[in-house]
Formats: sequence, structure tokens, C-alpha cells
Amino acid sequence: MSQSPRSSLDAFWMPFSANRQFKSKPRMMVSAKGMYYQSDDGRQILDGTAGLWCSNAGHGRSEISAAVSRQIDQLDFAPTFQMGHPLAFELANRLVDMSPPGLDHVFFTNSGSEAVDTALKIALAYHKAKGDSGRTRLIGREKGYHGTGFGGISVGGLVNNRRSFGPLLAGVDHLKHAWTAGSEFTQGLPLHGADLADELEGMIALHGGETIAAVIVEPIVGSGGVWMPPVGYLERLRAITQQHGIVLIFDEVITGYGRIGDAFAATRFGVTPDIITSAKGLTNGAIPMGAVFVADFMHQAFMQGPEQIIELFHGYTYSGHPVAAAAGLATLDIYAAEGLFNKAYELGDYFQAQLHSLAEFDVLKDIRNFGLVGALEFKPGAQFGARGYQVFEHCFWQGNALVRCTGDTIAVSPPLILSKEHIDELIGALRAAVKTLY
Ligand code: PMP
Repeated sequence: MSQSPRSSLDAFWMPFSANRQFKSKPRMMVSAKGMYYQSDDGRQILDGTAGLWCSNAGHGRSEISAAVSRQIDQLDFAPTFQMGHPLAFELANRLVDMSPPGLDHVFFTNSGSEAVDTALKIALAYHKAKGDSGRTRLIGREKGYHGTGFGGISVGGLVNNRRSFGPLLAGVDHLKHAWTAGSEFTQGLPLHGADLADELEGMIALHGGETIAAVIVEPIVGSGGVWMPPVGYLERLRAITQQHGIVLIFDEVITGYGRIGDAFAATRFGVTPDIITSAKGLTNGAIPMGAVFVADFMHQAFMQGPEQIIELFHGYTYSGHPVAAAAGLATLDIYAAEGLFNKAYELGDYFQAQLHSLAEFDVLKDIRNFGLVGALEFKPGAQFGARGYQVFEHCFWQGNALVRCTGDTIAVSPPLILSKEHIDELIGALRAAVKTLY
């Protein structure tokens, strides 16, 4: 093997990355504290994305590292198949205390993708457990991102994530993307488009409601470009699914743990699904972990079967891992002690005003925001995604700020420990990028 640092970059096949481009000018983070990363060339880089929507309490939290290190010393691993350890139960109880009413049970995973596949499997198995085994159809939505498992990419609605991987799950439909022209530059939720949920009625008419197991949506679309739900849309989906006995799943992998105020978007929007998937902010990104919240009435359907038989043949070696559970508990303590779920309420208006001040630039096609998540969508350049990537690169190298590009959209979702000054700094980096580039 070659010893040169350049060729050593070949060994790690980077996920969702332009691997070849990266090697020509690597962007490397070497440490992080609070709102900032430090790059290998010694720059402080403002974290405009909470890592990948996960470090909601900021970086380098000593409370989490202390809890993790204590836990490794005390109990580094214990199986949770037919065994237990107290922290997994403690964390599940803490999570249930924060969850919307009725979502009283938690299934642990290691990631958002696993949380999604777990949710889909629980929905399918729930109908079977009730003797309703004709319900096998799953419905996702265009532009939806539900991780990279085969279940997740099947219900997901992003073509690049699907097209190389074969026929995928059978019996999956997709609702239309929930956005209507004319909603550009709306501050907060779009006023029009609730009726797009009625398309589900059409699918029910076509297939028969009794064949549909579950509908999965992100309350706010994240990786698909940051799209807010039109006012009344989620309510409408809830009403239709309820009426037809269809399980409604909210994928809250990015909206969970305070991103838009409250623990979950379900609470903020006042719409309670039957299952919520979460990950990322659960452990502040420090240790991988996901959690799936399941409604009590669904759980009951499994618990009423014959005893001694495993109720659900599903799980992971690391479900409820003690070290991840310790990180989760320490993270929830920080969120509570610092009131971080309120930050979206406290700073949301300021964030919105600053973000929308960029509307002065003609190159922008749209600006979207809710809570502490926002997006700038650029008019397409010569090649799809080129502008998004240029702005991302400019922010990183010249603006000392980390933003995320997805196509020609730049997404921002800063850690919830931020101040108005950090918002100014982030918007300043974006303004400078747009001014310089276009
Ligand atoms: N669902 C949503 C809504 C997500 O945003 C993500 C990750 N961005 C996932 C699922 C997948 O999570 P992970 O990358 O942890 O598997």
C-alpha cells in the first residue's frame, strides 16, 4: 500500500459524496466545540447544519462524553434479545414522557434508515397480528427521503437514491410532492396545497383501503430540498388514514428533538401519527442511535398473542446499546436543562427575517423556512446542482461556514445553542457567496 497521504484517501469510500472531486481538495474537520468545527488548515468553521441535522446541543459536550466513558467502564455491552439492562428502559421511559399522547412504546435502532425499515415492518406486522393480512401496500411521497435501506428507498421519492438498485419493494405508491406553484418565498408554512393530501383518497379508491398498510411522510421534507407542509395538509392525511385504518408514520429523523420547537414536529403541528421514527438529535450525533415510537394500540396487538412466543421477529445486535443509551440520556438532560427545544420559538422569527433578506438576489428561485430549518433554492445554472455545490464550496472555503447542498438548494439547520450573532454570521457567509458568485 502506498504511504502517500493523497492515495490514502482512496481506502474510505465516502457515502453520498463526489469521491473523486473530494480528493482534489479535501474538506477535513479535525475537532469541534460548541457552534464551530475546526478544519485541518486551522480555520474555525461555523456549523450551519448541526453536522448532518444531528448535533442539536452543539459540539464537544462534556456531559455526553463523561456519560459515555462511565458507561463503557460500567457495562460496555449487553444483549437486549431476551435480556435487558436498566439504561435502555430508562431512556425509553424518558422518550415516552416527551412523545405525543399514545405513542407509548419505543423500539431502538442504530440509525434513521433502520428506524424507517423498523417502522414499515412494524406497520406490516401489526396488520398481520390483527388478522388483517391483506394490508401490504406502502405509500410514500415524491421527494421523500427515508434513509437507504431497501424499505426506505422503496417508499422514498428521490430518483437518484432508487434507480441503481433494482425493482425495490413491490406494492409501493407515492403521493405527489406537497407543494403548489405560487408558494415561493412563503415565510413559514405555505397556505395552499392541503388538498394534495386528497390524492390518498384516489389511491384508496384504486386499490381498496383494506390493502394499504401504511403511509409514511416527513412532516418537513429534509434531504429532498426542505419543503414545509402546507397548512392543513398533515391534518388531512391524518383524517384519511384514520378513517381507513391505515397506519400513519411521521419520519422525524430531522424534525425530532427540537428542530422546529417542541420535541417533535407532531407536537408542534398538533397532528399525532401512529408511529414516529427518530435518530440523529437523540444522542446529539455523538453515538449512533435511532428510536421508533409506536402507538399503544399497535403494541397491544402484538402483546395479546400467545405467551412465550417472540412477538416481533426483528431487532439489531445494538438495539438499546448501553453506551448509546447513556449518550441519549445525557443529551436529553442537556436539552431540558438548557431549554433548547424553545430555541426555535425564541429565534425562529429572527432566523426567518434574516434568511428572507436574501430574497434581494435575483438568482434565488425560492426561500423556505420553519423553526430553525431553512433553505435557499437557486434558479438552475448550466448543470443541475452546480449552483448548490458552488455556494456550498464558497461558504466552506471563503465564508468559514458549513451549509448543506442538495441539488440547487442550500439547507441550513444550525445547532439549537445558537445566538442571533451566529445567525448573522451564517447569513453573512451565504450573502457573500451569492454576491461573489452571481
Ligand atoms: N429519514 C430522514 C427523514 C432523514 O433525514 C434521514 C437522514 N438524513 C434518514 C431517514 C436516514 O437516517 P440515517 O442516515 O441515520 O440512516
